[in-house]
Amino acid sequence: MTKKVLILPGDNIGPEIVTEAVKLLRRVDEKFQLGIELDYGNLGGAALDAEGVPCPQETLDKARQSDAILLGAVGGPQWDDVERHLRPEKGLLTIRSELDLFGNLRPAIMYPQLAHASSLKPEFVSGLDILIVRELVGGIYFGEPRGIRTLEDGQREGYNTYKYSESEIRRIGKMAFEAAMVRSKRLCSVDKSNVLEATVLWREVISEMAADYPEVELSHMYVDNAAMQLVKQPKQFDVLVTGNMFGDILSDTAAMLTGSIGMLPSASLDKQGGGMYEPCHGSAPDIAGKGVANPLATILSVAMMLRYSLNAPKAADAIERAVSAVLDQGLRTADIFTDGSQLVGTVEMGDAVVAAI
Ligand code: NAD
Repeated sequence: MTKKVLILPGDNIGPEIVTEAVKLLRRVDEKFQLGIELDYGNLGGAALDAEGVPCPQETLDKARQSDAILLGAVGGPQWDDVERHLRPEKGLLTIRSELDLFGNLRPAIMYPQLAHASSLKPEFVSGLDILIVRELVGGIYFGEPRGIRTLEDGQREGYNTYKYSESEIRRIGKMAFEAAMVRSKRLCSVDKSNVLEATVLWREVISEMAADYPEVELSHMYVDNAAMQLVKQPKQFDVLVTGNMFGDILSDTAAMLTGSIGMLPSASLDKQGGGMYEPCHGSAPDIAGKGVANPLATILSVAMMLRYSLNAPKAADAIERAVSAVLDQGLRTADIFTDGSQLVGTVEMGDAVVAAI
């Protein structure tokens, strides 16, 4: 049966890293006879330039008809001056919310070959394997009312709304408990329930859900402590579940533990297991066009896509093994380069992974 994948290259390094990921997707399609059919669309600044909006209707239509979506990254200083509702990042938020991609899975895995690229000592990070489950379409990033208003005394005030309904908490909680069940059965829920009512409810609902998963050892942690513990003793964690904003920040911290944000994939899933797959990093305008971006986060996102949305776990395993093999060969892009390894560019890294399949 044909599997439809929509490719959204995006902006700056987006097209460079997506080209390598697509090369690999074609290779595994051929090797494992997956019947993958590719289509392309615009999102972000590229869509704004071509079609006048950051998330065109045509992209949403194609996305709804696809089994999975692969995204590079969006945004960049080229669009700094456009109105808020037209910004590239707004395109990303729109597609996430229109497709109800509420569950963001962000694994932070330390490849033993890269233990020296981390800013933490190797003994703290070697063997690290954390999964952050972040709620993606609710919380303060979407809450209404929001805006900047002028007060009676003439000064301006910025305001946002942090809210989570019980059902929003339950569906992300379910995803996190189920993820914990197939890992080491430990789940830590991160909140700020000593200050924020929205997260008092978060803690209550997650605690109630624990009764349905008696094998999972549930703990709770305030977000400030979680930030500290992630850099103090990251290996204490297995699965973390948290809201949109805390997850945004903690997953970038976890990313750096592994050496480079250029290594980390992500999946954003809906209720039916469809999803959008993208690297955790942004569009890296500072290195765009130089051919030096690390394509491995996007390549590893393809592996997640094959596993979670395309029911092709063998192909996913093959990609992850190929990435490990290429690191074993000593190949490194600039972001993960250390003395003694071989510096390669985006295309060479992509070619090496394809060759290792
Ligand atoms: P960024 O992740 O793009 O870059 C941060 C740093 O990491 C930069 O030094 C960059 O060169 C480096 N980096 C990122 N990806 C890399 C890779 N694959 N290989 C090597 N180095 C890499 O974050 P930023 O600079 O804060 O944001 C740049 C733009 O990206 C902004 O417009 C931002 O809004 C957007 N952004 C988009 C997404 C997304 O599309 N999902 C996520 C975050 C930021």
